[in-house]
Amino acid sequence: MIVIFLGPPGAGKGTQAKRLAAELGIPHVSTGDALRSAVERGTPLGREAAQYLDKGLLVPDATMLSLVAEFLDRAESARGLILDGFPRTTPQAEGLDALLASQGRAVHCVLLLDIDEEEAVRRLTARVWCPRCGAIHNLVTDRPKVEGCCDDCGGRLEPRTDDVRHVIEARFEEYERLTQPVVEYYSSRGRLKTVDARQPIDQITRELTAAVQACGGFDSPGGAR
Ligand code: AMP
Repeated sequence: MIVIFLGPPGAGKGTQAKRLAAELGIPHVSTGDALRSAVERGTPLGREAAQYLDKGLLVPDATMLSLVAEFLDRAESARGLILDGFPRTTPQAEGLDALLASQGRAVHCVLLLDIDEEEAVRRLTARVWCPRCGAIHNLVTDRPKVEGCCDDCGGRLEPRTDDVRHVIEARFEEYERLTQPVVEYYSSRGRLKTVDARQPIDQITRELTAAVQACGGFDSPGGAR
């Protein structure tokens, strides 16, 4: 099964996608994490992506489609994949449909985490991440056990370079201009489920799990199909 997470920056896609991946027993890929990791490693993809990430702009569609094609081709994705942060443009959504159709697969469920910009900005400006393992913390709602240290790997936590106000504004503009049409794309095909992302974190997970169930996504917890 292929599950897509949509929502503006700061909606909590990463946190919830990880939880749902554990629940469904299928892998989760965040295209943002994959790009940040490439930037940290200084790969050709990372060098290309850095100029867009730093400005809050979207990386070109062709680059993103070939990145996602690689993830879809992996053996561990055979039972399914949760895509967090992809597709973000209509050409990406069309490209994904074509890619999946060529493998005899299709998108099962699209989950939209709905949040107002004010709350999202509040979350983003309190967010820190671990460049070593990609873990995310929030200095208000999810403080690390040891200040400045990642709970998962002990790495040094720091703000993401794109979580500063002028870049956050650019990311919201890109969302409105390029990703909002993707919401319409899936909504008009009857595949969109919307969940209120201002609720407590466990309640959001429960509603997302129920939404995937309603899409015919899995029979029992841990049993993706
Ligand atoms: P995220 O971690 O999802 O907030 O993504 C961080 C940044 O990575 C975005 O602001 C974009 O520059 C880039 N990015 C992630 N996913 C995509 C995508 N599907 N298409 C284009 N750019 C992306």
